[in-house]
Amino acid sequence: MADAYKLDCESEAVDCRFIIQSEDEAEAIELATAHMREGHDQDYSDDELREEHLQVV
Ligand SMILES: [Zn+2]
Repeated sequence: MADAYKLDCESEAVDCRFIIQSEDEAEAIELATAHMREGHDQDYSDDELREEHLQVV
């Protein structure tokens, strides 16, 4: 069974219901980066997202 990479934005911003789940880590990070920038005016590096925000499920 493949791992999936998940970012549950609700754990970062309580009023945001955005969830990313992808088996492709690069895609998950790309989507997360775009969402954080557009939705929250925050820039995260790939490493920050990978280490601090993405969960492997
Ligand atoms: Zn969000």
